[in-house]
Amino acid sequence: MKVIVLGAGIIGTASAWFLHKAGHQVTVIERQPGAAQETSFANGCQISVSHAEPWANPSAPGKILKWLGQEDAPLLYRFRPEWLQWMWGLAFLRECTPARTASNIRQIVAMAEYSRQTLQQVRLETGIEYSCLTKGILHYYTDAKEFEDSLPAATLMRELGCPRDSIPAAEVLRIEPALAPIGDKIVGGDFTATDESGDVYQFTSGLAKLAGQAGVDFRYSTSLTRFLTEGTGAQRKVTGVEIIDPEGRHQILQADAFVVALGSFSQPLLAPLGISLMIYPGKGYSATYQVINPDKAPTVSLTDDGYKLVLSRLGERLRVAGTCELDGYGRELNTTRCAAITRRARELFPEALNFDNPTYWTGLRPLTPSNVPYVGKTVISNLFLNTGHGTLGWTMGCGSGLAIADIVSGRQPQVDFAFTGMAKK
Ligand SMILES: Cc1cc2nc3c(=O)[nH]c(=O)nc-3n(C[C@H](O)[C@H](O)[C@H](O)COP(=O)(O)OP(=O)(O)OC[C@H]3O[C@@H](n4cnc5c(N)ncnc54)[C@H](O)[C@@H]3O)c2cc1C
Repeated sequence: MKVIVLGAGIIGTASAWFLHKAGHQVTVIERQPGAAQETSFANGCQISVSHAEPWANPSAPGKILKWLGQEDAPLLYRFRPEWLQWMWGLAFLRECTPARTASNIRQIVAMAEYSRQTLQQVRLETGIEYSCLTKGILHYYTDAKEFEDSLPAATLMRELGCPRDSIPAAEVLRIEPALAPIGDKIVGGDFTATDESGDVYQFTSGLAKLAGQAGVDFRYSTSLTRFLTEGTGAQRKVTGVEIIDPEGRHQILQADAFVVALGSFSQPLLAPLGISLMIYPGKGYSATYQVINPDKAPTVSLTDDGYKLVLSRLGERLRVAGTCELDGYGRELNTTRCAAITRRARELFPEALNFDNPTYWTGLRPLTPSNVPYVGKTVISNLFLNTGHGTLGWTMGCGSGLAIADIVSGRQPQVDFAFTGMAKK
């Protein structure tokens, strides 16, 4: 079959890779001059099956209310006169019940675990170098109540097969001695030895290069403008996509099947077809520092609970990422937020990093209210979804790519997940 994949972030690139391996003729449309140049560019780099709890959980409404209007809040909802943002906010609240949270965690753990195994296979098969570290993820707490509140989530993770162990403060410092500067403030933590970290940009651009060499046609600097359809009801089909090529010319490209992996932009591009996805952009920040004193910098990937930041060592760099603003599609930097990240990085590792000129970045997480992505079929028979991976697109990327390749090929994926438009296996 001829398949067009729309978007070359981690999700579109992994989809293209597995569709090609399944024997399809694949074209990828990407508006940027290369793969992974939007949200999959400079994220937190954690492969964190252990952190499957969605932001929508029973404690979220209280926290979000407390943070309203606070410029450096970990999660900031800025009210806009926008129907989608308000509908998304209401849907988010509905996902905060204990029952919905537990069900969402199950979905995310299943896909994340499957995805980590798939990533490991791709790594073995291709040898892509992406500053991968398999030293686990260590989540530490400086607030006793937050630590206590985390214990049921860790228990649930263990029940779901994810070995997230709650540990005392001394054990946190044994696992990552570089945390010594704040050692007296740490009250406990949890550690998942099977989690990993690695540079999502290096991986995705490396995979795109290999896929291109194998025959996938990547059309960069090419924008999708709209879908063309014919027929009605069950007979309705996408016949082609209108694109603007690098020379600025409009063209129509045809294919047998179309996979949408457009991240936060999936929602506005699908709305004209009557497909309304609940995806809203959640702007996050990262700062990347040069490591000047390797002995004092962490190598275990970290989650700093108090500041809702994740930290990953990428060779001679340290990436610190986090925070979220729900404020439309803009990607401008807010200097208060950048300064808050550097202030915290300096507290944590005062002698390890060069704080003079960090590289700041923002990206738009394609957030669904539940953080469960849309992977599967739509009401249009040859149009497929692989989008809305929110806070965990790197963690769930390879597995979602393999799953959508199976679905497009008419096979049931090997993971127990609620795929859209399909009965659960
Ligand atoms: C600060 C931050 C930290 C994060 N940390 C982690 C982490 O530690 N672990 C983790 O698992 N996840 C993390 N994430 C989430 C993860 O980065 C995302 O879920 C993931 O990158 C989404 O991938 P995607 O391919 O769906 O989207 P994208 O990477 O945005 O890809 C979509 C692509 O579609 C293209 N596109 C859009 N519109 C058009 C158009 N009209 N025509 C052509 N092309 C178009 C874009 O250019 C883009 O390349 C983090 C995110 C942020 C912001």
